[in-house]
Amino acid sequence: MPRILMVASEATPFAKTGGLADVLGSLPAALVALGAEVAVVIPRYRSVPLDGARRIWDHMELWVGPGRYDAAIWEVDRQGVRYFFADIPAFFDRDGIYSVHGVDHYDNYSRFAGLCHAALGIARHIFRPDILHCHDWQAALTPVFLRLYFPSDPTFYGVRTILTIHNLGYQGRYGKEKLWWLGLPEWLYRSDLLEHYGAINLLKGGIVYSDLLTTVSPTYAREIQTPEQGFGLDGLLRARSASLVGILNGVDYAEWNPETDRYLSAHYSAENLAGKKECKQALLAEFNLPADRPEVPVIGMVSRLAAQKGFDLIGSVAWDLVNWDIRLVALGVGEARYENLLRHLMNARPDRFAARFELNNRLAHLIEAGADIFLMPSRYEPCGLNQMYSLRYGTVPVVHATGGLDDTIEEGTGFKFRPYSGDAMLGALRAALTTYWTEPERWVSMMREGMRKDFSWRSSAERYLDVYQRLLGTAGFGQAQVHRQG
Ligand code: ADP
Repeated sequence: MPRILMVASEATPFAKTGGLADVLGSLPAALVALGAEVAVVIPRYRSVPLDGARRIWDHMELWVGPGRYDAAIWEVDRQGVRYFFADIPAFFDRDGIYSVHGVDHYDNYSRFAGLCHAALGIARHIFRPDILHCHDWQAALTPVFLRLYFPSDPTFYGVRTILTIHNLGYQGRYGKEKLWWLGLPEWLYRSDLLEHYGAINLLKGGIVYSDLLTTVSPTYAREIQTPEQGFGLDGLLRARSASLVGILNGVDYAEWNPETDRYLSAHYSAENLAGKKECKQALLAEFNLPADRPEVPVIGMVSRLAAQKGFDLIGSVAWDLVNWDIRLVALGVGEARYENLLRHLMNARPDRFAARFELNNRLAHLIEAGADIFLMPSRYEPCGLNQMYSLRYGTVPVVHATGGLDDTIEEGTGFKFRPYSGDAMLGALRAALTTYWTEPERWVSMMREGMRKDFSWRSSAERYLDVYQRLLGTAGFGQAQVHRQG
């Protein structure tokens, strides 16, 4: 069984801003359950709790370009997984994971380069892996440093590297001068290496230097090879198409299950749906919406307020929506323009629209349970988790047919629209509402079919294990030798 060292910027329950953290919180344990040995490295941000953690390394010297840093390593064991926290105060002992007050930390490139160096240090001194599995641009320099700095280190003989792309929209692009600050040679500034449209692109470095690439759904793996969704990297991804695999994320059903959910006042299952009505009442009360006509359908949204998530579509049809006999409940934090859009709707029809602008896991659970319909009109969606939670909660998804949304929702379990337009979205919502009002039996059978779908982590972990084993069994796989041409 392989030994895997994962490198990432977030992992539940230690540090989370989005779905990436959920993956790093669940996939490792699912791999351990299959017999693999797994460790994870994340930064020790100021907010990462150290209670129960052991300080297992005091002084690990790291160089990031011209700067020398001293890292300590902490370890917590959780569900059979070794979580290492790279404690580099100059980089991580400050507020905010990536940003404060909406402004990115100016030195994110070197902060996360520090994480990559710490991961290689851990691989050399603490946990010697067969596979280095890196996630997103923050970890993407790990394979680059590995090939540049340790080409003949016996620790790394036979070690294979994997990069998982959770969202191609975030690439870590910086000015050319940052090469020097990262301790990287100038010859990397080439269009087939780290250069990208006049800048350096750290994710691109990971794509070029990793033995294998994965992303978080089969459809997204195809989409990112097209100019429409490739964010300028589609050509490179097409060139590496044979080494690019799409594996769906899973759901943590210990956390997302209407039969046991600790946040709900009533529980329910596919066999006995009665409790869902009570959850709907609780949701309406929580969001101060009228409860006098409980039959009116509630549309729920839990989402980052970002362009990716389709709020421009909602804006384009806002004045249609205000006239519909619905309730819409939204939870999200993000861009002010989308917050304003939701505020406008609330002001126009306070009896129909309600939104809260905070990160609040309890409210996310209340919405999943209490809504009838879950709306996810994402422009693109690498995998998406909320539509899978919705299925389990009998909350019928209405989604744009893209990426993981297209892979997880089918005709019998939800409503999909394409193209990406306000009219197409309204069409799907109308179809859903028509079924809801006029064919209640069909509606309930859709709910039940969705509730019986199983997207547990086990099957995803099996796919990852396949990939690891394929990689370890295949000599000379991938493009690990590319830098020698430089
Ligand atoms: P992304 O990672 O692109 O934001 P995903 O659907 O993959 O989207 O994952 C989002 C995760 O964050 C889900 O677990 C979702 O429930 C959670 N989430 C998003 N916004 C909020 C919020 N305002 N409060 C609580 N949880 C949230």
